[in-house]
Amino acid sequence: MIIQIAPGLSDKKKDVIINKAVSGHFKVREVRTQSATYLIAIGTEAADIRQFGALEGVMDVHHVADNYKLVSRKWKRQTSAVRVGNTLIGAGDCTLMAGPCSIENEQQVEAVVAHLVTHNIKIMRGGVFKPRSSPYTFRGLGLEGLKMFYDICRKNDISIITEVMESGQIDMMYDYVDIFQVGARNSQNFNLLDALGEVDKPVLLKRGISGTIDELLQSAEYIFSGGNEQLLLCERGIRTYENAYRNTFDINAIPLLREKTHLPVIADPSHGTGMRSLVPFVALAAAVAGADGIMYEVHPQPEKAFSDGQQTLNFKESTLLIGQLKKVLSVSR
Ligand code: PEP
Ligand code: MN
Repeated sequence: MIIQIAPGLSDKKKDVIINKAVSGHFKVREVRTQSATYLIAIGTEAADIRQFGALEGVMDVHHVADNYKLVSRKWKRQTSAVRVGNTLIGAGDCTLMAGPCSIENEQQVEAVVAHLVTHNIKIMRGGVFKPRSSPYTFRGLGLEGLKMFYDICRKNDISIITEVMESGQIDMMYDYVDIFQVGARNSQNFNLLDALGEVDKPVLLKRGISGTIDELLQSAEYIFSGGNEQLLLCERGIRTYENAYRNTFDINAIPLLREKTHLPVIADPSHGTGMRSLVPFVALAAAVAGADGIMYEVHPQPEKAFSDGQQTLNFKESTLLIGQLKKVLSVSR
């Protein structure tokens, strides 16, 4: 059961609510986010929520039996839109975010920014701290690269999404980041999730490489209950027995997540397939399936990219995809 209580409710009045829940054999945890205060009551017996609704200071109360609570759509019916610059993600549109796998140099960033500006895309992706399977491959330009990325984007009114790999990086990255990305490999790094709960900037949480939907939602609950409600979820493909491509994009996850959670759902068809030729088809399918956004990799010369070139679109392919997405979205929404 989730009980939202009035901001600034006195301890005495709060205790009346807590005591009532405890006497009904519930364990109660208070959760304070940047925008509200909740009492999460976990129990095995059904409660009559009307009795709680009548108590002073209770703003809203719902029964949520899922493992995750505050991110459940049983708690909030309407999608919780997340603001990034002037863009509202999750308000009905399909927001595009694009950029290279890794930030490489100024010329590359300038070229991608120009491509995004041409198509009115307002959010650029690009890693500066790269989780790589092999330690001998390019692992990113680090903070200096992020500052360069930031300077060029700000001059062009573009927001930045980039991956944070560990909690110790959050402070130094903070001023240069608009959306903190949690990569698939860190989807259950609970220390990182806790730390991002304390941050007052949006977080995009990717599904783990072998992560279930339930695990993704419970990871999201860590960040939300840690205080940060500005949360986006990302389907980026999972590892299956199929090895004809890098990952299997789970198209089912898009409508299912939209049923289960009020958080906006983003599709990543680049990592979801690992193959350039498949990216546009999967992006279009995700748009039709109801994705609140699509994040894909684009590079001036994918064949020369420092990472993930095989799944990265060039500008011509990206332009084609943007046009196709517009057409598909105009009839599917
Ligand atoms: C990325 O988006 O750059 C990335 C590394 O993706 P993932 O964590 O999904 O593998
Ligand atoms: Mn990549």
